[in-house]
Amino acid sequence: MQKTMNKNGAKTQFEQYQKALEAKAEDLRRSMSAQKVAQVVSRLDVPSDEGDLSQQSHEEWIFLNRNTLDLKLLREVEAALRRIQHATYGVCAACEEPISAKRLAAVPWAKFCVQCQERIGAQSAEHDSDDFDVER
Ligand SMILES: [Zn+2]
Repeated sequence: MQKTMNKNGAKTQFEQYQKALEAKAEDLRRSMSAQKVAQVVSRLDVPSDEGDLSQQSHEEWIFLNRNTLDLKLLREVEAALRRIQHATYGVCAACEEPISAKRLAAVPWAKFCVQCQERIGAQSAEHDSDDFDVER
């Protein structure tokens, strides 16, 4: 992992975001394995009569869907960490304007400024992304 301290030991502008991103990535990885465990446990609970099959596959679908969202978010977080290393972090990928500190504080992996995100987000709104933009 690349150090972001300069010679004086001063923190770089993005160190706080890097920390938040690393914590988020860790969180997502843990959450994905926790879901895997929960899935195995719930399988053990499911009675083996055929009436439950559709319910079971629905749960599997939700599970996969949620994991896909986590994985997608993890990719975004990792991409943001790479942007920090390449010093391209904090700049909107669409309009190349700086992303506001307020937005980065809320969504450190943000790739677009608020205006562009709204424009792009409106296009992909049909994909259920409720879990995706959660600001934690
Ligand atoms: Zn923009």
